[in-house]
Amino acid sequence: MSNLRDHLRQRALDCATHGKTPWTGTICCARCKKPYQTEDSKAQHYAPAECSCGVTLMPASKQSKKFSARAICSTCFVGLTGTRPGKA
Ligand SMILES: [Zn+2]
Ligand SMILES: [Zn+2]
Repeated sequence: MSNLRDHLRQRALDCATHGKTPWTGTICCARCKKPYQTEDSKAQHYAPAECSCGVTLMPASKQSKKFSARAICSTCFVGLTGTRPGKA
C-alpha cells in the first residue's frame, strides 16, 4: 500500500487519546469509522479497495484524491478490533 503511504505521509500520529504514536498502517473509513489495517493482506481487517459502507476506501493511484481512508493510531485500532495490526 505504498500509494496510501504517499497520500498520508505522516508516519507519526497525534492521537487525541494516546498522544504521539508511530503510524503502523492502521486506518479507518472516514464515513463509517470502520477500522482496517494495510500491512498484511492475510491478516484480519485488511483494507479492501471499497469499504463495506460502499465508499472508495483506498486510493486507486497516487493521483487519486477520492478515498475515505484516514490514518488512526495502532492503539486505537487494537481497542476497536481486539486484534493487533499487521503481521501476527
Ligand atoms: Zn466505510
Ligand atoms: Zn489512539
